[in-house]
Order: sequence, then structure tokens, then C-alpha cells
Amino acid sequence: MGISKLTTDKVKDRMDIEEVISDYVPLKKKGQNLWACCPFHGEKTPSFSVSPAKQIYKCFGCGKAGDPIQFIMDIEGIGFQEAIRHLAGKYGIEVEEDETQTPEQEQAQNERESLLIALGFARDFFVKNLQTDEGKAIGLSYFKERGFSPAIIEKFDLGYALEGWDNLLNSAKKAGFQEDILLKAGLILEKDGDPSRRYDRFRNRVIFTIHNISGKPIAFGARILTKDKNQPKYINSPETPVYHKSDVL
Ligand SMILES: [Zn+2]
Repeated sequence: MGISKLTTDKVKDRMDIEEVISDYVPLKKKGQNLWACCPFHGEKTPSFSVSPAKQIYKCFGCGKAGDPIQFIMDIEGIGFQEAIRHLAGKYGIEVEEDETQTPEQEQAQNERESLLIALGFARDFFVKNLQTDEGKAIGLSYFKERGFSPAIIEKFDLGYALEGWDNLLNSAKKAGFQEDILLKAGLILEKDGDPSRRYDRFRNRVIFTIHNISGKPIAFGARILTKDKNQPKYINSPETPVYHKSDVL
């Protein structure tokens, strides 16, 4: 994101060195050029020259030189984009933002979309598991005991992760998901950093789906129901490119 090239071109066409600099220092004509006491270094006799013909300024005392954009950057202490905004404001030019992304931004965007699709698949998987024999016996009966109605269970995407190490991993791979995306989505774990030893993060637990503001699943919370002292009672998705705990909670 930034200012569109069209806006930058409009500013460049419209800007005038004399108009821009005389907003800051009074200019006096002498020969072809205009002169002032330099606004960048202290002086009593003018060594700061402005050439309307060349549309540049140059100080013979401190060496500062450039075009109107450079002048605004130097005197306001701002960057190129801000200088364009400043000049657009001066000349009443509407600033158009450029919607095109850099290749890096585009790649990150594509990755976030892939993660959301994988998380959506996992949500569907966990929700479906709740209707299996194991899911009904353990997960659904837990939700019912806690007073969750079928409508609430459906609305909040409550689900169940089956017992086993690779139920989700295998189903997702069969559906065409890459393991690296599942890993980045926080759905699977990797033992000792070994890509050949990947397994489901959520196992043998009831699943609470966490959604973003547009209602897409971005993470899961999970509670174990069996008495396994080696397992924490609650676990959650880690932070991922689509799940920042501080934003959601
Ligand atoms: Zn100077």
C-alpha cells in the first residue's frame, strides 16, 4: 500500500519550486535565480539559491540540494510518501492509494488464505467427529450434560477430536492439504523438529472453535475428558499468522 503513481505524477506536474520554498523562507530574485538565507543552516548572507528554470534548490553553504519533494522531505523531516501527501494537500490534489501488493505481501496473503481454508477443514472434521460413536459417547454427552443445546453446538462449531495420533493429519492430507500448512495453522505438531514425525495437536478432546470477526475458524481450544495425568486439561492453538491471541480474547 502506498500512494498511487497517478497521484505522484499529478503532484510532480503541479508542484513549483518557488511556491513550495516561499512557504518557508522569503525568496529574492537576483539574475536568473532566487535567493534566501538557508533554512537548513544558520547564516546572515543568502547562499541558498533556487532555480525556477531547473526546478531545483541548492545551498552553497551547507550543500543541501534537490527538487521540491526533496525540500519538503528535508525541511519537514519526513519520507517521500509523506512529502507527496504534503504537496498534494498544498495543491488540493486528491490522494489515491495504490492497492497493489508487493510479492512478499501477496505471498503472505496467500498463506493466510491457505491457513484459513485448512482451519475450515479442521472445523468441519471436528464437528463431524461429534456424530461418530466415540464422539457421541464422550463429546456430545459432555456438551449435553453442560446444558449445550443442539442449536448452540451447531452455532459455535463445537466438535470432537478422536483418540489417535493422526486422524486429522491423514484426512487433511487425503483432501490435498500440505503438511506445512497444517503445521503453520497449529493443527499438527512435529516431534523433535523431525518432519517425518508429525502428529495431531488435538487428540481425544472436545473442541471449542475460535472464530474471527467474519466468522471464520482461526483457532481451537480443547478440553480432555478422560483422566490422563500426563495431559493438560485444556490446550489451545498456538499463535499463527491468522490467530493473535491478544486480538481475539
Ligand atoms: Zn544551507
